[in-house]
Amino acid sequence: MGKLTKNLSLLHAALGNYHYTLVAISKTKPNSAILEAYNAGQRHFGENKVQELTDKYDALPKDIHWHMVGHLQRNKVKFVVPFVHLIHSVDSLRLLREINKEAAKINRVVDCLLQVHIAEEDTKFGFDEKELDDLLAGDAPRELPFVRIRGLMGMATFTEDEQQIRREFSGLKKLFDRLSKQYRGKNIAWKELSMGMSGDYQLALECGSTMIRVGSAIFGERNYA
Ligand SMILES: *Cc1c(COP(=O)(O)O)cnc(C)c1O
Repeated sequence: MGKLTKNLSLLHAALGNYHYTLVAISKTKPNSAILEAYNAGQRHFGENKVQELTDKYDALPKDIHWHMVGHLQRNKVKFVVPFVHLIHSVDSLRLLREINKEAAKINRVVDCLLQVHIAEEDTKFGFDEKELDDLLAGDAPRELPFVRIRGLMGMATFTEDEQQIRREFSGLKKLFDRLSKQYRGKNIAWKELSMGMSGDYQLALECGSTMIRVGSAIFGERNYA
């Protein structure tokens, strides 16, 4: 068994009691590594750059579900809309409108998560709570029939402090629960809470995550040349 296949099966074995979707974050990794995970049964993969995502989509098996997890520029939306399974990183109404516009052209409904800013660092993208309420209470959910809001995504602060990470994840779960009671509609479906990466996915699942985005714990450390 290859190292990568072993990483995957250990990860699943340790999480036997949870229901979750594992999105294998394959950014910077070659197609051969993705194929090894694919051959081990992995079908959800995530990337953070549009060019890399579309290149990999073109080259790899068509039953892979591709997730966009990185900041998405509006002028690149058209490249991912035809095939993307879920966009985790919707961080503005303008972006949501652009996705709707491009999706309408090809008559495809695109599933999206709203990214929430939960970390201390202000380098991370995302809505704050008030902005989310404004967006969801406004006309956008009804006016944009080619996007479907499927939940929230968040990234915890990069820290060793487990209590802080737990606070941030629990806060996001609480927000998710409130929004899902408060805002309903034809193209709103509160199904996914995307939180947890290599360092904190166990904690995230304890706090109510439904979707974990794990890169280095599967593929090994990344080298950014
Ligand atoms: C890179 C990345 C991940 C995975 O990070 P690891 O620490 O390698 O598991 C998850 N989510 C997003 C948005 C990322 O950019």
